[in-house]
Amino acid sequence: MTEQANLNSKLGHPERSEGSHDPILLTPGPTIVPPEVRQALGRPMVHHRTAEFRAVLQEVESGLKALFKTSELVLILTSSGTGAMEAAAVNLLSAGDEALVIQGGKFGERWREICEAYGVKVIAVDPPWGKPLPPRLISEALRQHPGARAVFATLCETSTGVAYDLKAIRQAMGDCEALLVVDAISGLLAEPFDMDASGVDAAVCGSQKGMMLPPGLAFIALSPRAWEAAKSSRLPKYYFNLLKARASWEKEMDTPFTPAITLLVGLNESLKKIQGQGGVDRFVQRHQGQAQALRQSLQALGLQLYADPACASNAVTAVKVPDGVNGKDLISKIKKQGITVAGGQGKELSGKIFRIASMGVVGSAELDRCLQALTQALTELGWKAPSHG
Ligand SMILES: *Cc1c(COP(=O)(O)O)cnc(C)c1O
Repeated sequence: MTEQANLNSKLGHPERSEGSHDPILLTPGPTIVPPEVRQALGRPMVHHRTAEFRAVLQEVESGLKALFKTSELVLILTSSGTGAMEAAAVNLLSAGDEALVIQGGKFGERWREICEAYGVKVIAVDPPWGKPLPPRLISEALRQHPGARAVFATLCETSTGVAYDLKAIRQAMGDCEALLVVDAISGLLAEPFDMDASGVDAAVCGSQKGMMLPPGLAFIALSPRAWEAAKSSRLPKYYFNLLKARASWEKEMDTPFTPAITLLVGLNESLKKIQGQGGVDRFVQRHQGQAQALRQSLQALGLQLYADPACASNAVTAVKVPDGVNGKDLISKIKKQGITVAGGQGKELSGKIFRIASMGVVGSAELDRCLQALTQALTELGWKAPSHG
């Protein structure tokens, strides 16, 4: 380790891959912010209504189009990812509308909670947690509720480590009028995602997952059909009025309120990094390979995966806490070795699983160190892999 890296690590500022004892953040948000992005985040402040900042906004917006794979405008909001979820609901629906919500985990449930908070009638579709979604659950629910205005789905359900098949969901919707609204917050850049080709009507994302940024930015893109629906939506909105945001973008490439300037400068850097590494498709491929290798290594240790391999996500891997091991002790023993992984969420999964994120810059070096720390922690806790006979 260099002297500087050593000092950084003592100060709690890890320089990645410089030594085996630097802390590594492997949680499903926030994620590691790479050095070049952190440097961009530290640049002197600029004013947002200037030519230099508009140039950044323009570059960022076109970079976001490439990530979402859409020709539509991608709006930038100042909030965590949930703000963009709320923006989707309040701009597309009216009180009393019916909407299907695919649950299957904590984030699917969040769609339901947002809808209910605004008086939308929710028809819950409940795939078993950790398992694929049978498409007939969608077609049957829509047959019973043909007037449903929207289907709310999640690309990667971060609480269970499941990636849902959006094309199958779209297909199961048949020719019904409902809008397909997708939370791609943790899935973007790790799962294949093509907003336009998959017939997605609204997609939302946040900054602190695959985009390698701190939390604080959210993104939303709408299809032409969704923009039409926005015109007749009557749910209350002010800060997240997307028609207003679009109007100020189209008028003078502006945001209605002060944007998170610093984060946008950082985002421009991270989008360049993604481009420099071959673009979003290369990113997704790398994540696919890595997540698959991680799952194999975990199983080779004798551990069991929580999500069915048929739908396991590339962004986050959920692992069952083995019998006889306390989940909280396991995570804190891993943390003592400098690796932060996440536990399970809510009463359903707390203490029962732990989650390893492989988003953004996370590579095999980080995942190998995580596996070493995990192996040591399990040994210290006296766990022995069951023998396979
Ligand atoms: C992280 C995440 C969110 C957003 O959470 P915020 O804390 O509001 O940024 C939403 N959905 C999924 C699937 C997520 O992983």
